[in-house]
Amino acid sequence: MAVTKGHGNPRWTRDEVILALELYQSCHGQIPGPADDRVRKLSEELRSFPHHAQAARQPSFRNPDGVAFKLQNLRAVHIGVGLNNTSKTDREVWSEFGLDPQLTSELAGVIRHSLEVVDLLPNFDDEEVFAEGKAATMVHIRRERSAKLRKELIASRLKVGELSCDLCKTDGSNVDLKIRESMFECHHVVPLSVTGEIKTKVKDVALLCASCHRLLHRAMVTSKRWFTVEEAKKCFFS
Ligand SMILES: [Zn+2]
Ligand SMILES: [Zn+2]
Repeated sequence: MAVTKGHGNPRWTRDEVILALELYQSCHGQIPGPADDRVRKLSEELRSFPHHAQAARQPSFRNPDGVAFKLQNLRAVHIGVGLNNTSKTDREVWSEFGLDPQLTSELAGVIRHSLEVVDLLPNFDDEEVFAEGKAATMVHIRRERSAKLRKELIASRLKVGELSCDLCKTDGSNVDLKIRESMFECHHVVPLSVTGEIKTKVKDVALLCASCHRLLHRAMVTSKRWFTVEEAKKCFFS
């Protein structure tokens, strides 16, 4: 068995484990070794990912031995034997997608697509990562932080009335009008798994107060699923 322990490589991220899981599922129990083309291809792909600082990339970083070892880890989680080398991320990803190759392959597509359109933000807290992984979460955040989009949304809402949060309905009427609009943020309502459309339109965003936006993101992180604004209202607000 390939061994990579002791090289001090950075831990595998959720995105990386999801891609390894996709390969594991396609092997139907026949785990390939480091010389296998599919393993070499995934190794090359992972070595080109922006998830880790360049300095962390030693020659052993995500090399074919490391990828083959990760496939063995996933097998250990699958069969419940030899779990000592497995990580929390291995076990989490397995429990969420292990028995659903179709969902895994959709997520792998979302991750690859997201990496094409976004640079990962440095110092992004892993506790803010949605089920779809870090790259796709960045796409969501980058889309909704667009100043232009926010201006357009606010202007379109002001045309038909006062600003108010789509979730808690707060309108900030107790706050001075000069600074009131700073309470509100855009939240992109199209699920991350919808990757076709990159240009965000006003109809694709909800207007939320900063507090509700934070709560909705946290709900999606902890529940590991997507919530619409309506669902979040029912599940988390009484
Ligand atoms: Zn609110
Ligand atoms: Zn959001």
